[in-house]
Amino acid sequence: MIDFQQYKVYSAERRAFAEHNNLMSWREAAVLTREWAKVWGIELRAINVLSENSKWGGQASPWNKSICYPSRGATRWIIAHELAHHLANDRHGPVFCAWYLRLVQNHIGKYADETLRKEMIKEGVQIGTL
Ligand SMILES: [Zn+2]
Repeated sequence: MIDFQQYKVYSAERRAFAEHNNLMSWREAAVLTREWAKVWGIELRAINVLSENSKWGGQASPWNKSICYPSRGATRWIIAHELAHHLANDRHGPVFCAWYLRLVQNHIGKYADETLRKEMIKEGVQIGTL
């Protein structure tokens, strides 16, 4: 299936988290990723470094059980985003969005969840149910 709502999701999260872009170091992000992965029973074989000039904040590869972050580090919402790919085993479809919101609610907070959900709805993002 094509990644039909990728850019809508990106745009919603950019707006929702515009003032929450505090980067933690790559190492801190890796530790937090392992902690959260454990909570959700996600098997992660590796957390790698994305190439320096990558335009991505992170990259998830559920098929080889790995996640990459750039060496500059990552934010909490980027971690939630990448782990949601593993839980949904999908790109940015409705089930991904449902997991993303669940992770944000559990690990970042209710307000962050509501803000992201509002922005997703404004963008016309389809949110599945779990
Ligand atoms: Zn993504």
